[in-house]
Amino acid sequence: MEDCIFCKIVKEEIPCHKVYEDDDVLAFLDISPVNPGHTLVIPKRHYVDLLELPETEAQTLIARIKKIAPAVISGVEAKAFNLNLNNGKIAGQEVGHFHWHIVPRFESDGRELWRGQPYGEGEAEAILEKIKNLIK
Ligand code: 5GP
Ligand code: ZN
Repeated sequence: MEDCIFCKIVKEEIPCHKVYEDDDVLAFLDISPVNPGHTLVIPKRHYVDLLELPETEAQTLIARIKKIAPAVISGVEAKAFNLNLNNGKIAGQEVGHFHWHIVPRFESDGRELWRGQPYGEGEAEAILEKIKNLIK
């Protein structure tokens, strides 16, 4: 896609620090890392988000993440990683080319995740009723 920054990275019109590449997938260091080694994993073809991404591409990406993530965390001597997917602008997606973030995690790195809170009486059942019949 013409105006897509990640398509430009795929076409090597914009440089990146390439972590991994094959015919279908590219992984490169995030330009503004949450932690050292923060890596983006993208399909080479342009899809806006997870809902556009064909299942076969999703399978390929997961398989590659399983290869890449252990190297990333070992390389930066991290203890674990978060696999983040911001799906849609309101969810924090800034680049409209599907990507997963591999964010290495270190003990006491201060990268707090959101806290949840329990449902009130009957709330879970009411929400479930609205959602489950819509699954196709
Ligand atoms: P999003 O908010 O869409 O989930 O994440 C987009 C990510 O892409 C951000 O973490 C941002 O730092 C990264 N990013 C944006 N532009 C570039 C770029 O030109 N090069 C690289 N390597 N990362 C980028
Ligand atoms: Zn793109």
